[in-house]
Amino acid sequence: MPILNRAAELHDQITGWRQHLHRNPELLFDVHQTAAFVKEKLAEFGCDEVVTGLGRTGVVGVIRGRLGPGKTIGLRADMDALPLSELTGKSYASTAPGKMHACGHDGHTAMLLGAAKYLAETRNFKGSVAVIFQPAEEGGGGGREMVKDGLMERFGIETVFGMHNMPGLPVGKFAIRSGPIMAATAEFVITVTGKGGHAAMPNLAVDPIVIASQVVGALQTIASRSADPLDSIVVSVTKFHAGDAFNIIPDSAELAGTVRTLRTEVNALAEKRMRTLCQGIAEAHDASITVQYNSNYPVTFNHADETAFASGVAAEIAGASNVTTDIAPLMGGEDFSYMLEARPGAFIFIGNGDSANLHNPHYDFNDEVIPHGVSYWVRLTETALSA
Ligand SMILES: [Zn+2]
Ligand SMILES: [Zn+2]
Repeated sequence: MPILNRAAELHDQITGWRQHLHRNPELLFDVHQTAAFVKEKLAEFGCDEVVTGLGRTGVVGVIRGRLGPGKTIGLRADMDALPLSELTGKSYASTAPGKMHACGHDGHTAMLLGAAKYLAETRNFKGSVAVIFQPAEEGGGGGREMVKDGLMERFGIETVFGMHNMPGLPVGKFAIRSGPIMAATAEFVITVTGKGGHAAMPNLAVDPIVIASQVVGALQTIASRSADPLDSIVVSVTKFHAGDAFNIIPDSAELAGTVRTLRTEVNALAEKRMRTLCQGIAEAHDASITVQYNSNYPVTFNHADETAFASGVAAEIAGASNVTTDIAPLMGGEDFSYMLEARPGAFIFIGNGDSANLHNPHYDFNDEVIPHGVSYWVRLTETALSA
């Protein structure tokens, strides 16, 4: 089963939607125009229900099959862009200064709209499909907000599926794995307070720069000495701010960074070790150190049965040799994780071909991917809800 004929017929129209969305990127929960566009299309397709304002600016369309009552599955796309200035030079480049669809969420939204159009036309399934368009994937937790707003209960969603494009993976290929596929993310801010003074009289000061440097060194032992070598973990200090003169030891220094893990327990270990190390270093130097540790997106965890099911569908569309079923997990975060905590499901990658990387100002979603993504969504729905 290659690409569906109807998905190929809709290719140009869906490309038009994608490029319209690309021209008009919006950030986080502030996706009002995008949500309005999605709502208008879903209503035009004849969805049985179109609900807006879920998780602030999320949109859900419900399409009932013509083969009778049955289960409900959820298909999810994300709608938000990134605070980045586009450098693609494309004719449909962003018209909003400092905002850009650099993660391909314009493509995700357009493909799910295309699938909704197809499914509303044919309704060749039993039960219902809920097409979910979420805001604020890029750091705002829009997925979490939709789940909190009762997304799963309200529409009776039993299983949920997500898809993300992947630069470097050829067009027409898919990649997935059972278990953790994307990392849990946490952010930390460490404030070291010493005692400022004359740079020529360090004995009368408590130098926060020397102490913070020891903290940076000590944090390296979380991954190298505290975590099990077989567990994946990244601890990156990405900010180090202190002082502004040649001859003054400042009062304080601030460090910040991120922790990525593939198991909740490892994230908890990282937080615990970070606090212990900071406390010990503070005591050793008569300084005080505060640690703010915010655990953010959880691990995106693919459920075994739904992953096997999704790989089977992808293999039907692309051919088994074009579906990698054991891709290594990525240490990036993804807030579809909240939906996978609420219901069983699977998150799959679809090849974007030889493009610039995600979050790069030269990145662009590849419109050639559209019929593959639409076919996947349609076939997944028809198979999951077969009579
Ligand atoms: Zn992104
Ligand atoms: Zn993304």
